[in-house]
Amino acid sequence: SWGSFTDKATYDWSSEEEEPDGSARPIQVLVVKDDHTFELDEAALSRILLAEEVKNREVVAISVAGAFRKGKSFLMDFMLRYMYSQASEEWLGEAEEPLTGFSWRGGSERETTGIQIWSEVFLVDKPDGRKVAVLLMDTQGTFDSQSTLRDSATVFALSTMISSMQVYNISQNVQEDDLQHLQLFTEYGRLAMEETFLKPFQSMIFLVRDWSFPYEFGYGQEGGMKFLEKRLKISENQHEELQNVRKHIHSCFTNISCFLMPHPGLKVATNPNFDGRLKEIDREFINNLQVLVPWLLSPRNLDVKEINGSNITCRGLLEYFKAYIKIYQG
Ligand code: GDP
Ligand code: MG
Repeated sequence: SWGSFTDKATYDWSSEEEEPDGSARPIQVLVVKDDHTFELDEAALSRILLAEEVKNREVVAISVAGAFRKGKSFLMDFMLRYMYSQASEEWLGEAEEPLTGFSWRGGSERETTGIQIWSEVFLVDKPDGRKVAVLLMDTQGTFDSQSTLRDSATVFALSTMISSMQVYNISQNVQEDDLQHLQLFTEYGRLAMEETFLKPFQSMIFLVRDWSFPYEFGYGQEGGMKFLEKRLKISENQHEELQNVRKHIHSCFTNISCFLMPHPGLKVATNPNFDGRLKEIDREFINNLQVLVPWLLSPRNLDVKEINGSNITCRGLLEYFKAYIKIYQG
């Protein structure tokens, strides 16, 4: 059975983090500005990570990263439902309930390269009795020009360095350029880490959206692993560059896995008035969502963030975040 969630952390919000109804929301903690400089909202990040209830708790930092308009917020809203419903069987919600959370601003959301953090940190009891703090991060970038690719690489590197689980959200397939991007991101991360003698990254999950070859590799984690094994395989007759990308990715993460998600259906993908209600999402997608979200977030699967072999608390994570940013600003 699941460990039980306990009291949600409550904070002393300044007005800028607070919605009129006092509810939690995504907070943009890192922004890449038009002149390619970074801005860390240290005050906002401190308010989240230094809240009395969480600051000394070991932290599980979950990041979902990838390009815009690929369904990250949509997925994260379901992750929030799971967290808020305390991992109960009924977490998915009502058939006609609109989806809220990271996508709360809908179409008006500016596409900002950077990192958003959910303002509420969740306290979760793991089955081994430890109470951990769970942080959800949305990391996004653009890949349309050299300069934006560089910005995105830095943001991805940072989110990979501070998360215990990086979910790399990609569309339709794992293409060679997805792997090259990942190499670039992790290269940026490793460069910074070598200087500080820190260990490599924890878990990397390739989340493939709109997977359309279920007869070749089935939806879910098992099909995903078989697919990824094939995709990341290194062979003699491969071009050296292809071999290097694969070696690099293997050398960066403690755990690498993959999940193949079906297409959610045309209403989700094309109807501008779609508000996230389950009723309008393809059954196959929902079935896989019911596997994916607990696989990512069930209390026993939550891994505490480790740096140099030590477990990190929320307070510690804030310090690393600030230190890492300095490296890229330097
Ligand atoms: P984000 O920019 O990556 O956060 O993407 P959003 O979650 O805002 O979703 C962008 C658009 O894609 C919305 O219209 C969603 O309804 C739609 N969408 C969400 N999930 C999926 C998916 O798995 N496949 C497809 N094709 N569209 C999706
Ligand atoms: Mg989004």
